[in-house]
Amino acid sequence: MGQISRLAMPPPLSLYVHIPWCIKKCPYCDFNSHEHKGNENLTDIESLYVDALIRDLEYSLPKIWGRKIYSIFFGGGTPSLFSGKAIKKILSQVNALTPILYDAEITLEANPGAVDALHFEGYKEAGVTRISLGIQSFNDRHLQSLGRIHNSQDAKKGIEIAMRYFDEINLDLMYALPHQTVNEAIDDANTATSFNTQHLSFYHLTIEPNTFFFKHPPQLPLEDDSSLMQETIETILSQQGYQHYETSAFAKPKSQCQHNLNYWQFGDYLGIGAGAHSKLTFHDKITRESRYKNPKQYMEKINTQNMIEAETIVLEKDLAFEFMMNHLRLIDGFSINSFQEKTGLNISTIDKELKTAINKKLISMDQTIIKPTLLGQRFLNDLLSIFLK
Ligand code: SF4
Repeated sequence: MGQISRLAMPPPLSLYVHIPWCIKKCPYCDFNSHEHKGNENLTDIESLYVDALIRDLEYSLPKIWGRKIYSIFFGGGTPSLFSGKAIKKILSQVNALTPILYDAEITLEANPGAVDALHFEGYKEAGVTRISLGIQSFNDRHLQSLGRIHNSQDAKKGIEIAMRYFDEINLDLMYALPHQTVNEAIDDANTATSFNTQHLSFYHLTIEPNTFFFKHPPQLPLEDDSSLMQETIETILSQQGYQHYETSAFAKPKSQCQHNLNYWQFGDYLGIGAGAHSKLTFHDKITRESRYKNPKQYMEKINTQNMIEAETIVLEKDLAFEFMMNHLRLIDGFSINSFQEKTGLNISTIDKELKTAINKKLISMDQTIIKPTLLGQRFLNDLLSIFLK
């Protein structure tokens, strides 16, 4: 049973654009990122890939007829390897094909090791409104162990350049790094807040399969230390005026990331580019699709309009879990109405699971709102497993 007949209105639609190249693969990275070979001319690749992205969107239009783009995110890989001219071409073509809302948030991810003022000026001119910088740490020893191509000086310089052109800036950092002490994590949190950017993300380093770290595990901090790092980072950020609104995301008032919020609120997204994923709502079904991951293969497949490697309908039995997997990351939880609107299911279908989660003190629930408790935030996987069928 995969068809749903009660989805009256689709949720907001975001656009994700994947740029799959990086200068060097980091040992912890399981994203679809590919080392850019020195003998390949990046300008040639850029122009071929931009054309492929535009054709990808053209072929996808029938799935999003009549819908406006609520937010755009250039992710990777390292989108800041691409010129302002390339980003401008993509954005103007997107707008010509399917209107972008006039106040849409448009984010571009940048690597401090691949940042220059000219590129940032170009992104601004192209219409980018927000920069997300992959800082990871301000400690040279940790940057080296993470295999990053930048050092702490580059990180600080990258932030200063970004601040010249953009008001909305996110800094991505990680904690629980190999051999990291609690004091070093605190130093990173203090340095990050000293720039007073509008948004910060702090991720717990996780070792994913298919990474160098998985095959050669580094020495990680003890669980007690990483919990202490998490609690201390949350306290420091809160003292500096950052609101903790999602498991790893912190924002100054009115600066929450609209694009990611749309993911977490179980909104729709069309992903274009190598390996990009989409989730799209139709009146009778919700689908997920993914594109070919290898950039060369993806570009070849575009020529035959056959760039989608896998497409599935989300089964009704999986809907509640998928909704919770996103929504319960949000500290404010969700409204009962939005569960019904976005899944087409009545809240009573998960009565038993909700009761279990309440009894275990993992969620709180009133007449309208369901949200994770502090315990539920700390043990999110345990909470989610209750909804897994
Ligand atoms: S720069 Fe980012 S996307 Fe590229 S390999 Fe490193 S972690 Fe992955």
